[in-house]
Amino acid sequence: MFKKILVANRGEIALRIQRACSELGVKAVIVYSEADRDAKYVKLAEEAVCIGPAPSALSYLNMPAIISAAEVTDAEAIHPGYGFLSENADFAERVEKSGFQFIGPSPESIRTMGDKVSAKQAMIKAGVPCVPGSEGELPEDPVQIRRIAKTVGYPVIIKAAGGGGGRGMRVVHTEAALINAVQMTKAEAGAAFGNPAVYMEKFLQNPRHIEIQILADKHRNAVYLGERDCSMQRRHQKVIEEAPAPGIPRKLIERIGERCVAAVKKIGYRGAGTFEFLYEDGEFYFIEMNTRVQVEHPVTEWITGVDIVRTQIMVAAGEKLPFTQRQIQIRGHAIECRINAEDPYKFIPSPGRVTTWHAPGGPGVRVDSHIYTNYYVPPNYDSMIGKLIVHGDTREQALARMRTALSETVIEGINTNVPLHRELMVDANFVTGGTNIHYLEEWLSQRQ
Ligand code: ADP
Repeated sequence: MFKKILVANRGEIALRIQRACSELGVKAVIVYSEADRDAKYVKLAEEAVCIGPAPSALSYLNMPAIISAAEVTDAEAIHPGYGFLSENADFAERVEKSGFQFIGPSPESIRTMGDKVSAKQAMIKAGVPCVPGSEGELPEDPVQIRRIAKTVGYPVIIKAAGGGGGRGMRVVHTEAALINAVQMTKAEAGAAFGNPAVYMEKFLQNPRHIEIQILADKHRNAVYLGERDCSMQRRHQKVIEEAPAPGIPRKLIERIGERCVAAVKKIGYRGAGTFEFLYEDGEFYFIEMNTRVQVEHPVTEWITGVDIVRTQIMVAAGEKLPFTQRQIQIRGHAIECRINAEDPYKFIPSPGRVTTWHAPGGPGVRVDSHIYTNYYVPPNYDSMIGKLIVHGDTREQALARMRTALSETVIEGINTNVPLHRELMVDANFVTGGTNIHYLEEWLSQRQ
């Protein structure tokens, strides 16, 4: 096992990794930007290194500063968390070239999966079903683009090969709008992701977003940890996640889970990863793979009893997975609400000083957050300030526990989306379960 790990992230996930390290008896080095200097998890860290000023480009995305911090503190490994450099193959490569272990898959795996076109090609080869669409990158020739769209069938969605975070996508309903949409997406993709390549998929009308969590070690062992339903989204960004997915037959989950495990073994993947699918009419269609720990990992941890962050660290250190597929049993139901510092209905970010923070508690309640009373939410980063996760023996019990937990939660001084979550937890359709990826946006537009 490592003696010391550098945590190359901030906020709740930095704290989550710090906790996993402490449980494993591993020292954690926290890096921070000037904007995060006073955060409690930074102050409580055994070692902390300032890596630059507030803007991410100069701190959490600053590869030389992070690698130097690992050098001066004698860390052996670097955990990238999610976001920032976590899916940057060049970073993983530089980490390993500098003699540190990157806690995640190999740079080659990250590179293949980071390009959605090559990821889909790898999945088709590995027998994972994908959304029908262009085979690879769209060509330049408008005549050919129109021909592809006709074969795929409208509506189609134009997506950036290098896209992420719900950006770089455009839905096209008619041939008249096609070429312009392709050109606009290309221009945006080039500017935002440094890669203008785009591809086309059939735009599925009413799918659900279902994803499979996998874990693999360096000895070709791999398991899947059931599924998560992340259909409650706004602007392609997840707001609520739960596990298991309501109403999907276990047989179908097992079949797709086994396909994912086979694919993982085939590509020699190691670490934690997630296969994201759209699910419609009993069929799964792969859309992308995330090669890192995800925000919503706690719901899976709760229904399987597996500590995903701890396991990531163990397999990076070369240990074998401590369980087999047969030992993974699903127990009960878990729900996560992402708590964002934003107006609950207009979604305008609301950074600033938290004057009161009272966290909920009780049986089956978990709060993953770095905030506290008097914490200052910096305006420089993502608006998520924590996650509220509950577990119950049944979905009904989990829902009841989430309602209670949300009613106990007090955050003053800034706006948060807690009021929105309170409303959604009593919404008849959400309570029934199985809402699709458009449900939340439709609900919001009817509310206004
Ligand atoms: P990102 O990497 O930006 O998260 P994804 O490819 O994972 O992009 O897609 C994010 C979301 O966009 C999905 O969860 C879904 O809501 C929507 N989406 C993506 N592809 C399609 C598609 N072919 N049909 C319908 N919705 C889609």
